[in-house]
Amino acid sequence: MSETMNTFEAQQQGRPTGPLVHGYEVIIGFETHAQLSTASKIFSRASTAFGAEPNTQACAVDLALPGTLPVMNKGAVERAIEFGLAVNSHIAERSIFARKNYFYPDLPKGYQISQFEIPVVQGGVVEFFLGEEKKSVRLVRAHLEEDAGKSLHEDFIGQTGIDLNRAGTPLLEIVTEPDMRSSAEAVAYAKELHKIVTWIGICDGNMQEGSFRCDANVSVRKPGQPLGTRREIKNLNSFKFMQQAIDYEVRWQIERIEDGHAIEQATVLFNPDTGETRAMRTKEDAADYRYFPDPDLPPLCISEQWIQQVRGLMAELPRVMAERFVRDYGLPEYDATQLTQSKVIATYFETATKACGQPKLVSNWIMGELSRRLNEENLDIAQCPISPDKLGWLIKLIEDKVISNSAAKTVFNTLWSKANSAVVSVTLPMVTFTAGGQSGKDEVESLVDQLGLRQMNDTGALEKLVDEVIAANAKNVTEFKAGNEKALNALVGQIMKASKGKANPQQVNELLRRKLG
Ligand code: ADP
Ligand code: MG
Repeated sequence: MSETMNTFEAQQQGRPTGPLVHGYEVIIGFETHAQLSTASKIFSRASTAFGAEPNTQACAVDLALPGTLPVMNKGAVERAIEFGLAVNSHIAERSIFARKNYFYPDLPKGYQISQFEIPVVQGGVVEFFLGEEKKSVRLVRAHLEEDAGKSLHEDFIGQTGIDLNRAGTPLLEIVTEPDMRSSAEAVAYAKELHKIVTWIGICDGNMQEGSFRCDANVSVRKPGQPLGTRREIKNLNSFKFMQQAIDYEVRWQIERIEDGHAIEQATVLFNPDTGETRAMRTKEDAADYRYFPDPDLPPLCISEQWIQQVRGLMAELPRVMAERFVRDYGLPEYDATQLTQSKVIATYFETATKACGQPKLVSNWIMGELSRRLNEENLDIAQCPISPDKLGWLIKLIEDKVISNSAAKTVFNTLWSKANSAVVSVTLPMVTFTAGGQSGKDEVESLVDQLGLRQMNDTGALEKLVDEVIAANAKNVTEFKAGNEKALNALVGQIMKASKGKANPQQVNELLRRKLG
């Protein structure tokens, strides 16, 4: 592995120096295990479903009974290809499975089938924003492997049980270059990666259930120095802990060095209760694993034709979609990024825009009023009680000057509570986001009428109101004529009140100015 270390080192010299912590630069590289969302395991037909009774989903292959042989799950390979395409990697036309040998109770074969020298996904890049700044983290590789079982420590009876349900669950291990320079950047990377794998649907992304587990390799150095020795924080399964663990680890390493000690390469665990990292074992080197090609599995061969077929079935990626939102809808990059945080948000936006043809207004409503209400009630946009076509029609009514902005908020709130009282939680599967439906339009319009919010478009009636208010407010009129602009606002307010909010303020303003010369 020392060769690998040297390449990492060479590659890091050209990168810009990161923010310093007490004079040290922080270097972080990630290894992420994403459980692939196949129904069955990577080399057997046992189910991968989470949460079953222990050992009910481990077949002879997973139990490593003598005479069993692994058979590659095509779905797992397809998901690896999809990932590679999503991050612009090279998909190896021929990759090799290897045995990684170690002894542990939850690994009945005594080795894990993984990929070592030739992984299926090679290179690639993950791009994201850290605040305003665009960052890119290069990937070294992503390889297919099997998950191990779980040791269940039953402290109250002083025994440890083994559950092999997880053994053989397909994993894609995604390895970065040590390109990250702060805990905040590391978390932003992990969030982006999480978005990518869930967006393309190769992983359910459930961090609590262990579907997406990150190991953070952390070292510190004085700027310009070679890379420092790293310690690897294992199994970070929440973004919050990730940040805390890295921050703690950085402080710990700097203190050690300042106290005159050398950092020893080690694997550490983060304890959320104490907020500390603790060494679990000194780090094994690749040689300790005695890797060798698995004679039970032939090389994994992927044809260009297969890659193209997978590519053809893949949905548009978030980054590509955001670029399209900027290009086709004229949205600012910020809006486009926000609206492509998930497929549901993006679909909601596009459906509402189809109904009203006002992308920027839709974006404002989604990021403003809608997000505020969703947050307040702790709802996901998929549970939003107002369907996107209704929001679209509402916006169209504002645009067509049928209702005022403030009236639209009233309609919005009424729609919201009506839906909420009808059903407790409405889940809107993506397929129901159909645009242009007449029913949404009718419902919104009839609600506007029920609430009596239609703006006064009859200029005759409006003029009459204006005249009445002018006659009744001689003081304001005199003041305005004497040059006091504020007096006009007072008059507009009077007219709006008299019209019960149904007058168009701009129209009122114009009429007043005309009448008062
Ligand atoms: P392993 O942990 O399996 O031995 P590697 O040696 O390939 O694997 O490195 C694993 C991870 O450690 C990679 O994500 C890499 O970017 C990161 N890494 C390597 N050297 C350093 C370092 N000095 N500081 C921080 N991260 C590092
Ligand atoms: Mg590692």
